[in-house]
Amino acid sequence: MKIKNIFILLGVAAIMFSCAENPFTGKKTMALVPNSQLFPTAFAQYDQFLTDNKVVTGTKDAAMVTRVGQRIAVAAERWLSANGHQGYLKDYKWEYNLVDDETVNAWCMPGGKIVVYTGILPIAKSETGLAAIMGHEVAHALANHGQQRMSAGMVQQGLAVAGNIAIKDEQSRNAFNQYYGIGSQVGVMLPFSRSHETEADKIGLYLMAIAGYNPAEAANLWKRMKANSGGQAPPEILSTHPSNDSRIANLTALAPKAKEEAAKFGVTTFR
Ligand SMILES: [Zn+2]
Repeated sequence: MKIKNIFILLGVAAIMFSCAENPFTGKKTMALVPNSQLFPTAFAQYDQFLTDNKVVTGTKDAAMVTRVGQRIAVAAERWLSANGHQGYLKDYKWEYNLVDDETVNAWCMPGGKIVVYTGILPIAKSETGLAAIMGHEVAHALANHGQQRMSAGMVQQGLAVAGNIAIKDEQSRNAFNQYYGIGSQVGVMLPFSRSHETEADKIGLYLMAIAGYNPAEAANLWKRMKANSGGQAPPEILSTHPSNDSRIANLTALAPKAKEEAAKFGVTTFR
């Protein structure tokens, strides 16, 4: 018990050392693991995931995933530059892959490593719907939400040894995947909190709008998601992205603001 308390104290100390203001949320966020350690881990996990799964290449859908991902990434970079944060994403190594899997899911790892499952495309329905999904997932990564979940989990488990995360053993890898909502074979996926969802919705809307996609479509996407939440195979994405009725109202209310934000970047027509 005492040892656990010491770990918690160490964790708190580490949080105090590692809190930096996030430009997207304006909040100081807990990050026990610095990006310099987190990104190589994420990149290795991503490569492993691509090896273990069937990546779709050379199709119209694969090209669409790449196109939307690139536009969202450019939107994020433009927004950061315009707001005095040039170089904030310098360690990002953006990558966008479509994976052949009927799971209704998509995610973005730290450092800009994105996977879209073919199973989510019917709900995305269009390139704009896909932009809403990818904007939202990228927003979680940009806001360091996964990192906050992992840091909180480490403190809880008394594992908070600052700057020393070992993702080498299988248990740690599974924990990592849980915090980032990757893969469904390794037990319960940890949901993002409602406040993280609201944050990711707003950032995602702005990104899709700056990327030239109609932000008004995001509300329709989540309506479709909700309509698919019954039945035998509810969308996996909803297990990590808890949704509620106020979300759709919130997205609808924010869409005009996202268009105003896009206008600052000269984007006034939307696909
Ligand atoms: Zn989410």
